Amino acid sequence: MSENQVATLYIVATPIGNLSDISQRAIDTLQEVDVIAAEDTRHSGTLLQHYSIATPMISLHEHNEQQRSETLLIKLQQGESIALISDAGTPLISDPGYRLVSLVREHDIRVVPIPGSCALITALSASGLPSDSFSFEGFLPSKQGARQQTLAALENDSRTMIFYESPRRLQACLTDMVAVFGDDRLVCLARELTKLHETITTKPLAELLDWVSNDSNQQRGECVLLVEGVKEQKESSEIEINHMLAILLKELPVKKAAAITASLLDVSKNAAYDMALKLKQ
Ligand code: SAM
Repeated sequence: MSENQVATLYIVATPIGNLSDISQRAIDTLQEVDVIAAEDTRHSGTLLQHYSIATPMISLHEHNEQQRSETLLIKLQQGESIALISDAGTPLISDPGYRLVSLVREHDIRVVPIPGSCALITALSASGLPSDSFSFEGFLPSKQGARQQTLAALENDSRTMIFYESPRRLQACLTDMVAVFGDDRLVCLARELTKLHETITTKPLAELLDWVSNDSNQQRGECVLLVEGVKEQKESSEIEINHMLAILLKELPVKKAAAITASLLDVSKNAAYDMALKLKQ
């Protein structure tokens, strides 16, 4: 039995390359809704044809989203069901759809996500970088000054940072990343995911820049960049510091014990000196 209901907006993820990466539920939904709102109807025609889906399409892209959302809201209010798709992956993720979803929800109409491919999650899952906490930054500004400013604001972020980037700007973007994050942070370049020339490479930033600069093939196709977050400084605990001071104070004067402790643990000389004095008393 079909789970599709009238007056529902379905947000349907489509493949990011390999046409097989789509769920049966997504195919059923696309077959059963009254209309499919697609970012580019010609582009999505290939996918629909592949799965013999004959549902009528209507375009919804960044230039007509506002006005098209009103039209689609009326259709939903008349009891029709609609599926939203984008050119690739999950709609709304660096793709149109936000205005439509917020408008439809404001009118208390059901919105149902049909999950599937998403380039940032696909890349993260195979990058080898920490995946417990990450931030998605979308596309960086194309102008160098603005790009460097955006990167500088992320310099101390300890989460894995994920960027979508155009292959034309990849080299310039990596150059700015080296300038802001330094040579050694790990970075993963995930290219052409799920496609014939899929390449997923994780290296220190300066090495990756060098590799990409010397191999023009790495500057082709779609790509995601993932940058390791800054390593959090592990503060030495008070117990740890006092323990070391107590051992050293048995053999050394206060100043010397404090200096050695400060050089071995994460504590300033002054703070170690004050703590050593207290212990001595
Ligand atoms: N909605 C899509 C998603 O769920 O990932 C993203 C759409 S955004 C307009 C397109 C960008 O996603 C590309 O420029 C690239 O950075 C990334 N991307 C999409 N498909 C990709 C693929 N197969 N391999 C690598 N990156 C991809």
